[in-house]
Amino acid sequence: HLTLGIETSCDETSAAVLDGGKKILSNVISSQVELHKKYGGVVPEIASRKHIENIIPIIQEALDTAGVTLNDINSIGVTYGPGLVGALLVGLSTAKAVAYGRNIPLIGVNHIEGHIYANFLEDPELAPPFVCLIVSGGHTHLVYMKDYGEYEILGITRDDAAGEAFDKTARVLGLGYPGGPVIDKLAAEGNPEAYAFPRAYLEPDSLDFSFSGVKTAVLNLINSMKQKGREVNTADVAASFQEAVVEVLVEKTLRAAERKNAGTIVLAGGVAANSRLRGLLMERADRMDLKVRYPSPVLCTDNAAMIASCAYFHYVKGERSALSLNAVANLGL
Ligand code: ATP
Ligand code: MG
Ligand code: FE
Repeated sequence: HLTLGIETSCDETSAAVLDGGKKILSNVISSQVELHKKYGGVVPEIASRKHIENIIPIIQEALDTAGVTLNDINSIGVTYGPGLVGALLVGLSTAKAVAYGRNIPLIGVNHIEGHIYANFLEDPELAPPFVCLIVSGGHTHLVYMKDYGEYEILGITRDDAAGEAFDKTARVLGLGYPGGPVIDKLAAEGNPEAYAFPRAYLEPDSLDFSFSGVKTAVLNLINSMKQKGREVNTADVAASFQEAVVEVLVEKTLRAAERKNAGTIVLAGGVAANSRLRGLLMERADRMDLKVRYPSPVLCTDNAAMIASCAYFHYVKGERSALSLNAVANLGL
């Protein structure tokens, strides 16, 4: 069974061909990062227009790389939310046209759920149940995945998403956009104990998160140093900020695993590419005899292979979307 996946929820135009739910035949990703860089973030209108230019060539490239044609495709999976509505509509309209034209099933995919499925692409042995920490540019969810398509939300962020905190902090430090990868790299040269930024653990039994405090603490530090005419060591600030965010993410994820009696922890979303998050979680989970899984960096951030995988698992359960499916910008998990 070949699935064509399409993803256009934000600033990556991506198409992929999957054989079954786990075998990648192609996964073409065209990032618009360079285009949005000078604005310090994604400009929705520019993103939509670029998706329109890219979508057909990217789909063609995905088919060519996989060595197949549209005639060989059995179903189509597409992100219909959450994301930028104009961006989503480009992928969704294209997917609907292909599904209608070829008379093949359409499966609308929740982008956040899709991030989890990136994990199945590289580890054929992996299967639910497990605890999953989804940390992306717009979302921070701690979930218990009971089975394919079955999720119990254990905790969410009450303000900024983890990736958003990385991006905003990078901006304050003058490191450009997107901030996550730059902070990750720079932090390796800094001292994580240089600054004691706040760790928001919230109520003792809460698995929710809050990252606006640490972001503000960095801003206040930078401003007060500026006033005093003193230089900050950017690497030390980056390392201390990252440590504050990662410690809370790891601690709460381990608590979630304990609470659900889960033997496996899975990371998903762009921030899952963070080397300190991966490292600290591995180290601490190892001591508790818990398994940890995470995708390669390229599969952590937005891509259509994860969307095709998620679509396939819904397809085998008999789920289909109507051609009247609409984009839902604020779709929840
Ligand atoms: P969402 O999935 O919530 O709709 P998105 O699709 O924009 O948002 P992703 O593509 O999953 O988000 O991830 C992008 C985010 O991941 C950005 O905030 C980026 O800074 C962050 N990120 C990427 N690499 C790293 C890294 N190595 N360390 C920390 N953060 C990272
Ligand atoms: Mg992106
Ligand atoms: Fe994403």
